[in-house]
Amino acid sequence: MKKFTKNKFYLSCFSLAMAVGLGGCMSVQQKEMKQQLQKIKEQVNNIQQQVNQEQQELPYGGNKRTLGMFKVGYDQCYDRSIMPHTSVVDAHNHFQPFGGNAIPLVEMAEYLRKLGVLFVNVYGIGQTLPIDSGCEYYLDCKDTAVIPSIRNDFRNASNYLQYEPKGVHLTLSMSFPDLAVPEEIMPQINLLDREYPGQFTWMGEVNLVKQALFNNDVVATPIEIIDQWSDFMQRLREDEKTPRGNIPIAIHSDFGNNDEPEKYLPLMERVLELYPDNKIVWVHMGLSKELTNMDPKRHIEILTRLLDTYPHLMLDLSWRVLWDSYFYDEEIRRQYVAFINQYSTRFLPGTDFVALDKKDFDDYKDDVNVTGLINKYLDDKAFRNIALGKNYFDLLDLKDSNGFNYIAPKICE
Ligand SMILES: [Zn+2]
Repeated sequence: MKKFTKNKFYLSCFSLAMAVGLGGCMSVQQKEMKQQLQKIKEQVNNIQQQVNQEQQELPYGGNKRTLGMFKVGYDQCYDRSIMPHTSVVDAHNHFQPFGGNAIPLVEMAEYLRKLGVLFVNVYGIGQTLPIDSGCEYYLDCKDTAVIPSIRNDFRNASNYLQYEPKGVHLTLSMSFPDLAVPEEIMPQINLLDREYPGQFTWMGEVNLVKQALFNNDVVATPIEIIDQWSDFMQRLREDEKTPRGNIPIAIHSDFGNNDEPEKYLPLMERVLELYPDNKIVWVHMGLSKELTNMDPKRHIEILTRLLDTYPHLMLDLSWRVLWDSYFYDEEIRRQYVAFINQYSTRFLPGTDFVALDKKDFDDYKDDVNVTGLINKYLDDKAFRNIALGKNYFDLLDLKDSNGFNYIAPKICE
């Protein structure tokens, strides 16, 4: 909404310039600048008070991280020896389950504040189980077809607008697209735009190939269909006209499996080759439960080549499978830590939590802890970029309610 205000200003400035010449416009700009400076001054003067207040209002037993610590004016450094190692961002959180009921948004927001996870992407689930199937998890209902659906995006948007949780920043994501049926994507983006204008500033998680769903009537997206994505990919890219900017798209695309580790790599390579200017987030670095024995050296070599070739590509470190199957091992971890430190501006943290109402706070806490373990081994720069949110803030140009960009605090020397 903030950019709307800005646009309005430019519009009025332009109209003024037409009426009284550029000089009139300049004075309006100067006035605006003066107001901005005043706003900054006020924020700087009040920020510590705001943080103290926020900390008092935290749920019992919560850690001490609050939104105010990520705002202009907050000048205290982040002491890694006493503050949590977990990420302040969860860029990959499914607020809606495959089937069954979701944890209510107000409850989920309480979990987030308690754990100091303050910036969160609100995913639906692209692949939903039919409501008449009684199924809650696709692996429990093999042979039941899962289908992409827009209903979870509607649920998330309507919950968000109804409850608008305080103390956390939520980013709504379009999770509906079926990448194998690209002609249906634009009409549905338009529908969400009409119903919830400017609210969805992310797309994903969308499945290019997800082998875990192969028993549920899903196949890999045929490579030739990727050529037909150009209209919606352009739409995501050129969204500057609305308050959203270049919308990132988070894609699930398995590298391969234990028998053929690079089987599906050509699919993601094709996407990158055709849409190099889109902000593409490759989730789980392409790893999965089907690929637990990838040679780290080979994996890192391929990812390095792609990151070097495609400057908009980012990798998401979500899902505990990464820790359990790779980072857990000291020798493997050493290689990934070196890689992440070197390319630290290209990673986003996340849990891949699925908010089925049978889960509770401890389940989410566990996911936050395990997916955050790798942060402990990162150097300070990478920790700030990834765990303290700098990459996420930069990617989304994320602003607070005063219109100032969120800032990751400096790490204490
Ligand atoms: Zn996911």
